[in-house]
Amino acid sequence: MTQTYKSSPYNVLIPVEERNEFLLFNTLNGGIEELKESEGMLMAELIALKAFSREMFPNEDGLMDYLINREYLIPSQKNMVEIFESNIAHHQFKNAGTIHLTIGTTISCNMGCSYCFEFVKPNHTLKDDRVKKQTVAYVKEIIKHAGHNVHTLSVTWYGGEPLLNVRAISDMSLGLIDLAAECNIKYSAKIITNGIYLTEENMNILVANRVSLIQVTIDGARDVHDRKRPLKQKNAENYYRILRNLSALPKGINVAVRLNVDREVADSAELLLDDFEKFGVWPAKYDQVSFDPAWLRSYEEIQLNAQEKGLRMHVDDFFDFKQNFRLSLLGRFNRYADFHGLRPGKLKWDIPSYQSTCATWASPISLVVDPNGFIHKCWETIHDDSFAPTSVFEPYDPSKFDKFSAFNRYTHNDVCRNCKYLPVCDKISCSFEALKNLVPQCTEWKYKTESYLKEQYLRMKGSPEMMIEPRNASALNTGHSNK
Ligand code: SF4
Ligand code: SF4
Repeated sequence: MTQTYKSSPYNVLIPVEERNEFLLFNTLNGGIEELKESEGMLMAELIALKAFSREMFPNEDGLMDYLINREYLIPSQKNMVEIFESNIAHHQFKNAGTIHLTIGTTISCNMGCSYCFEFVKPNHTLKDDRVKKQTVAYVKEIIKHAGHNVHTLSVTWYGGEPLLNVRAISDMSLGLIDLAAECNIKYSAKIITNGIYLTEENMNILVANRVSLIQVTIDGARDVHDRKRPLKQKNAENYYRILRNLSALPKGINVAVRLNVDREVADSAELLLDDFEKFGVWPAKYDQVSFDPAWLRSYEEIQLNAQEKGLRMHVDDFFDFKQNFRLSLLGRFNRYADFHGLRPGKLKWDIPSYQSTCATWASPISLVVDPNGFIHKCWETIHDDSFAPTSVFEPYDPSKFDKFSAFNRYTHNDVCRNCKYLPVCDKISCSFEALKNLVPQCTEWKYKTESYLKEQYLRMKGSPEMMIEPRNASALNTGHSNK
């Protein structure tokens, strides 16, 4: 019987009228191709067909082979969603053998940011040695139970503000690092902090305890940041203190600067970059410090007033900002590189990346431990014991997590199931969000992939010295990679 084919449901065909060309992007495998006009027209025809055989296009063998090999065209009997459904463990997560362990060292925070749910949290701090020891013992049980399937222990120190209780980090790291060594699995750790207590002493403690990545949120230059992320202690130094801390960043640890972008943050971004230069943070430490601008979303529990609502950006404006910010970083880096005799940089492509389902929620070997030893399956619930299915003081029993592992983004609702952006959607992959709203707020990529990829393509063609060729991207959602 003749094999028939169809276009992958995850293809996005983008006409580039300015060059009489097309781009073909696949949200599932991250592939991106330049097509000549005639190839693009053919692809448009194939997308419209339910099924076709190669014989129907006798002069297109080379192109057909290429598109079939790269899974832009797939056998017509193949139902991608059914394949995902039938092998959830494999398709929901990348790195299924990683234990993602998030430890809340405290629920308290020294800041009171309006978009954070911290204000409803009780004041709990991890001081009890029994919780510390028992957490390590619980992870040991997970490894014993899961056997050779586990290859990595990946720890996130979280809060509140985790550095308010740095003692818990040093007390527990030793046990966790030893456990990983004893079980012959890899160990890695990161911390999410507001940066105020990144003192030299604390940074050295982090490095000594194998924390290799610090995520610090800085929402705009001083005036904006200090207003949006106010310290609870009146008149205490905030933004400049964080920059001074970062300027003393030791080797062996990297920093990802998160910016939650609204109009005010966007307007002050240049000033922020000036300050990063003045303080010798970036580009001076370009190999350790990177920026991660994110479109500011708000938690539903927070009522926004009209003024705050007015500050939220439209998705088009956010993408414009993001691209200008990237260009500004490139310009600044290249001036620095020129002065220091370094090779100039090029702009990388910013492409929607594959999102695994949140492993913290859905993987039975991943967990969040709160300061009292309660185990949660989501970072958003650690302030509320009623969400905890078990605790580190109970034996490890994966069936306790069944209702979380049962979350399947492919069957959650028909709209998402049939959405070509599902593989890159960081909203449906966040189980907490997905379960709150049957159809979650859609990923911004749904609206911007076509125009944004086209814009980058035209830029690359117009200034090839400025931009590298596209590379496929993939992201691992361990929980809050999308926050
Ligand atoms: S939330 Fe929206 S973008 Fe995401 S998978 Fe569902 S329909 Fe698609
Ligand atoms: S990504 Fe979503 S489900 Fe996962 S921890 Fe964060 S809020 Fe919870």
